[in-house]
Amino acid sequence: MLEIPFAFEIGGKTINPTELEDPRERELLQGIVESIVDRVEDMKCPVHNQHPRFLCHGDTIDELSLEVLGCCDGLVDMVRNRLES
Ligand SMILES: [Zn+2]
Repeated sequence: MLEIPFAFEIGGKTINPTELEDPRERELLQGIVESIVDRVEDMKCPVHNQHPRFLCHGDTIDELSLEVLGCCDGLVDMVRNRLES
């Protein structure tokens, strides 16, 4: 169902949000995914026909920053503009 690839890296480890034992942490990460996917799920690179990818990383679960990854700078810029608007 989810076409947008989303990765989490916390404290240097790759995390799967659905496998977290703490329900608060699970909800926090799933909330991030949903709010972003909601805004970008229709976006594709007009040149390469690729979806953007996201990497959420930080030292702890409460200090995450979001990185937009894509096939080219054009797509990354488009996605960043959408998320900032
Ligand atoms: Zn592209």
